[in-house]
Amino acid sequence: MSAFQVIAGALASLRALGCLFVWHALRPTGQRRATPVPNMAPLAALLAAGELDSNDTAWCPEETRTTYHALHADGSRTCWTCRTDTPAGA
Ligand SMILES: [Zn+2]
Repeated sequence: MSAFQVIAGALASLRALGCLFVWHALRPTGQRRATPVPNMAPLAALLAAGELDSNDTAWCPEETRTTYHALHADGSRTCWTCRTDTPAGA
């Protein structure tokens, strides 16, 4: 084996190690994988039981128009535009 063949073999080995290093640095890690969709069943049960507020359009007596409201479990509502609280049944 000549000195040229020894040097060529060593350079080929270094090249292979370099390729391995680049592959290791750029390999996919799964960090950008989509997150699983949360289970919405407990939320629906809490809304049905009246333990959470929901949102819907309702009449705002302060603005005398229909606006988006937070609907509370006790039947009252709060206008998201002007923050007016309206008692249940009003
Ligand atoms: Zn309002």
